[in-house]
Amino acid sequence: MIIDLKQLFELDGKEIQFKHELDLSEVEMWGIRPFKSPVQIEGKVCNRTGMVSISYKVGYLLHTVCSRCLKDESKQCEQLFSHKLAGELNDSDNDDYILVENFKLDLDELATSDILLELPIKTLCKEDCKGLCPKCGTNLNERDCGCDTRQIDPRLEALRKLLDN
Ligand SMILES: [Zn+2]
Ligand SMILES: [Zn+2]
Repeated sequence: MIIDLKQLFELDGKEIQFKHELDLSEVEMWGIRPFKSPVQIEGKVCNRTGMVSISYKVGYLLHTVCSRCLKDESKQCEQLFSHKLAGELNDSDNDDYILVENFKLDLDELATSDILLELPIKTLCKEDCKGLCPKCGTNLNERDCGCDTRQIDPRLEALRKLLDN
């Protein structure tokens, strides 16, 4: 969705409201596609005494997979984002502002980067997830499989074999 902000930049007090659905179903993260249904976006762009800003709320169902035990879950997420917008950037110290070229704001692009930047790099089903047994694959949160998963030093292993014989 492209929002034309030409009038808004010129008119103090003007406000544009928008409501939009964003399709992120192709996005891949954690080896899965976490956005199975469209992201709901609702917000507004305002010009207050020449200061143009956008604020919006996103809502979506996020599917995650635990990076230790591979359990998958889904949770409803809501986030608020806001940015100051500039029609042109005059100096270089303006990292705070988002430049809106030709007064056309690409809402899809902005919301996509806002949402993806907030996603965690790794997800855990719980802070102390015990993960899967590296030997038999049992989910160690559910039960203890009893495998010996101590790291075996190959030198000791060789020695043990000698002593066994
Ligand atoms: Zn887990
Ligand atoms: Zn095991």
